[in-house]
Amino acid sequence: MSFIPYGRQSVDNDDIESVAEVLRSDWLTTGPKIAEFEKVLCSLTGAAYSVVVSSGTAALHLASLALLSEKDRVITTPNSFAATANSILYAGGEPVFCDITPYGNIDLDLCEEMIKKDGSIKALYAVHFSGNPVSQSKLRYLRETYNIKILEDCAHSIGASDGGSKAGSCAGSDCSILSFHPVKHFTTGEGGAVTTNSKEISDKVSMLRTHGIVRDGFVNDGMAYDIRGNRNPWYYEMQELGYNYRITDIQCALGISQIKRLGGFLKRRRELAQRYDAAFADGSVRPLYTYNGSSSYHLYVAMADFEKCALTRAEFFMKMRERGIGLQLHYIPINKQPYYKALGYGEEYTPVMDEYYEKCFSLPMYPSLTDAEQDMVIESLKELICG
Ligand SMILES: *Cc1c(COP(=O)(O)O)cnc(C)c1O
Repeated sequence: MSFIPYGRQSVDNDDIESVAEVLRSDWLTTGPKIAEFEKVLCSLTGAAYSVVVSSGTAALHLASLALLSEKDRVITTPNSFAATANSILYAGGEPVFCDITPYGNIDLDLCEEMIKKDGSIKALYAVHFSGNPVSQSKLRYLRETYNIKILEDCAHSIGASDGGSKAGSCAGSDCSILSFHPVKHFTTGEGGAVTTNSKEISDKVSMLRTHGIVRDGFVNDGMAYDIRGNRNPWYYEMQELGYNYRITDIQCALGISQIKRLGGFLKRRRELAQRYDAAFADGSVRPLYTYNGSSSYHLYVAMADFEKCALTRAEFFMKMRERGIGLQLHYIPINKQPYYKALGYGEEYTPVMDEYYEKCFSLPMYPSLTDAEQDMVIESLKELICG
């Protein structure tokens, strides 16, 4: 059997053919696949607008520029990939780390206490960790009650839903971001999107995606038009300091093709989760949460009391690797990273996150993982952890 990683893409011949078709066409970038992919993402999420960009991190960066002002204090979770908090810094904001619940998501009740105490909090960045959605109704309540901006990092949660609201629909938030990195629910190689119901946010993100340059809605009419009122054909205007965060038509074609298979991908992830749940019902390890019908299972996280085991967690990871099984850990608390420590972070009171970090690990979870491979993972884990 070949190596079993913790996550991987599933690319089939239809996907490859879709990409090849674009390579044979006139448009490799800034072509028709961009708008087509954006339209598909709107129907997938239910959001009114979507803007596709070169990565989930680029989506976070531009969304942050659209939402935040310099020095805004923004509550976020330590249990995420660094990019979530980094994007607050990119926009000149100040991350404020809040503890998590025992299920891995930011603790929205604690957030509310923090917002009540600290009038300078302007926004909240929530991550639907592992694909398990935080409450949309609570997000909406916080947004409306305290007049704060809310961003949902849906990098893990495509296909998840909470109380009928689909991930990325922005039912309780200003905008959401998606990532199409190969370990996520479907891939474009690298890629991401901002979804929103606000035309203003959508326009701003689109403009910043391509250098802050516009091709209509000019400010400088004297340069835009000639003396007879003809629009100068070469003319464009740079109105803000933007970036080149464009995604290619090649990538969008892959995304459009992959989304056709998303239903099957999600079904398999949920099956695998329930098979893990059943295997761990003996108490060998504790699932972070058991199947709840909502999670889209980007990750399957389990917990063990390594201080009671013969093996340390590092040894457990190494022995599993010797057997051809790749584990991962999501996440090292962002506030404990050296860069953040140098900014004065790291001593926040986050007992739940701290304990979670001591016990957690992520097991292989991807649509093409077979039952036989998963059984091997489970068997190896039980031999090593309980033995
Ligand atoms: C993957 C990920 C990102 C970043 O996405 P990229 O496409 O890799 O830039 C951001 N937030 C979370 C929670 C992620 O898992």
